[in-house]
Amino acid sequence: MDDLTEPLIQGDRRALSRAITLVESTRADHRDRAQRLLDGLPDRQALRIGLSGTPGVGKSTFIESFGRMLTGQGMRVAVLAVDPSSTRSGGSILGDKTRMELLSRDPRAFIRPSPSSAQLGGVARRTREAVRLCEAAGHDVVLIETVGVGQSETLVAQMSDLFVLLLAPAGGDELQGVKRGIMEMADLILVNKADGELLSPARRTVADYAGALRLLRRRIQDPDGFPKALAVSATTGDGLGDAWDQMRALADWRRDHGHFARIRAEQARDWFMAELRAGLLARLDAPAARARIDAMGRDVAQGRRAPVAAAASVLDWLDRAGAD
Ligand code: GDP
Repeated sequence: MDDLTEPLIQGDRRALSRAITLVESTRADHRDRAQRLLDGLPDRQALRIGLSGTPGVGKSTFIESFGRMLTGQGMRVAVLAVDPSSTRSGGSILGDKTRMELLSRDPRAFIRPSPSSAQLGGVARRTREAVRLCEAAGHDVVLIETVGVGQSETLVAQMSDLFVLLLAPAGGDELQGVKRGIMEMADLILVNKADGELLSPARRTVADYAGALRLLRRRIQDPDGFPKALAVSATTGDGLGDAWDQMRALADWRRDHGHFARIRAEQARDWFMAELRAGLLARLDAPAARARIDAMGRDVAQGRRAPVAAAASVLDWLDRAGAD
């Protein structure tokens, strides 16, 4: 058994931190150890909640108050972040502890900023494994935060039990250019900043989104009334209790109807397929394969070989190389 296993299961934060550092590493010996560690963990389940929203919408304020509400009820909460921009900026915007000062000092909370990794695929694997570690460490809720850009939302939705979209009150009566695909992934739309002067615009925005959600095709994993839009204020805490009640109600309904386990099983299979594809692509990138592929590419470009025959010959070669 790994040295980290026991303290991790006991909920030791340093052990959890070190275990996540291990799964973030790309060194071969670290990967081996991470894999052994993950294999030896007990199967504990947290509610995995994905949370997305554009910068400034109030994600960190929300996580701070929502997280504190949950820890106040005796729950243990972990916060992870998927931040594709951290690669470019060199630092992370998400999961930054200074943005969630009270929660980061809360003994029932664990916050881990986004790693800077070369590619989204690496971040995806690391986050999925970090979720498992947080669950084994006994957290009741794992919040996975991401910014509303590009593929990161899809990625987070694919590793969450519930996907929550945080929006700001709209100025006019138009929906805020939220892409249909993103709407279709949401289980709950929370219109934040429903306080003070923004209260009535927030209520109008909720009504707009409730209308838009009703137009979407009904999903089998939803009871009546879901996906739902609600108004919340991360600052005053208004609506946060209701939001949590709705999340729990939805998760319970899915558990009772077999969808919770089914969705997790599908996510596990999708992850497996993604790893398989990534592994195959990595083989094409190995030096010997690269050389062969480059040479074959030149032959094809100069008309010496047909594209299909050239591809078949490389695949043949890879098969033989794999058999050795
Ligand atoms: P993030 O970039 O999505 O993490 O957003 P932040 O949590 O940093 O919030 C951006 C700004 O919106 C800050 O100035 C917050 O004080 C403000 N803010 C966040 N939540 C609320 C809210 O519920 N009501 C109001 N009025 N302002 C909020």
